[in-house]
Amino acid sequence: MVKIIRSLAEFTKIRDKEKSPIGFVPTMGNLHQGHISLLEEALKEFNTAYFSIFVNPKQFGPSEDFNKYPRTLDQDIEKIASCLRKYPGKSVVVFAPTSPDEVYLGQNHTISVPEMKDIIEGECRPGHFDGVATVVFRLFEIVRPAKSYFGLKDYQQYLVIKKMAKDLNLPVVVKGMPIIREESGLAMSSRNQYLTFEERTEALVLSQTLQRISAVINGKKENLNKASEMIKEALKDSHWNYLEMRDTDSLSSDLHQANKIVLLGVYQLRTTRLLDNLEVAVQ
Ligand code: AMP
Repeated sequence: MVKIIRSLAEFTKIRDKEKSPIGFVPTMGNLHQGHISLLEEALKEFNTAYFSIFVNPKQFGPSEDFNKYPRTLDQDIEKIASCLRKYPGKSVVVFAPTSPDEVYLGQNHTISVPEMKDIIEGECRPGHFDGVATVVFRLFEIVRPAKSYFGLKDYQQYLVIKKMAKDLNLPVVVKGMPIIREESGLAMSSRNQYLTFEERTEALVLSQTLQRISAVINGKKENLNKASEMIKEALKDSHWNYLEMRDTDSLSSDLHQANKIVLLGVYQLRTTRLLDNLEVAVQ
């Protein structure tokens, strides 16, 4: 059964009755298979999965797409119900607050992960990761999950949440889940619908460049210099906001001790910033 709850008061009543540990998937809605893959994992591991749909104003900059962000609650609920049919006996509780007040009223704190908030994606989007850490902290407080699921598509976001949970000793396991892609290789994203038909083809530069760099690295640290040269060359294309090679845990650019690195890129087509990344093990 899918239960949909629109107010904090009603949500808290339902949550307080829950006796068993729960899995939790926070989202901003406009669901696609990437989000559903997180729900499936939660349903495999728990009898009840909690799922939030909330477009969080705190993580959008003043010139970003908060107002235009697609809100498609009815279709989202359909997709959740259709996923749930594959898990007989299990249930989903959807928390879809009607307004930010349901989440934030009387709550003025900001949660920050200083080591990561101003680098890479954080450098392009000042304040974004404070907004993300703050809403996820608040949702953890409201939902009280044993485990929560995040897509590695938003790699830096996943690391921010993991670090926040560890630093603040939150009683929740943070699990990262693989990127779900379209057949073309384009990472699924709610923002892909802003792309024109031609831009969908142009967008493939992003995943294909990551793949090419990974192929040149070929698992060997000695090839990282060659990879750096490729990155410099690629960055001549001004559509890139950034293309970086970093340590998977710390996001440090010092790769001497690293045994796994991540290639992180944002490729921008008009106002649409497309994020992608690829992990590469190196020896
Ligand atoms: P969003 O609603 O875009 O904030 O995303 C909610 C969650 O879904 C985040 O943990 C994202 O990383 C995850 N997610 C979004 N797109 C994908 C994807 N293509 N594959 C896997 N997870 C995704």
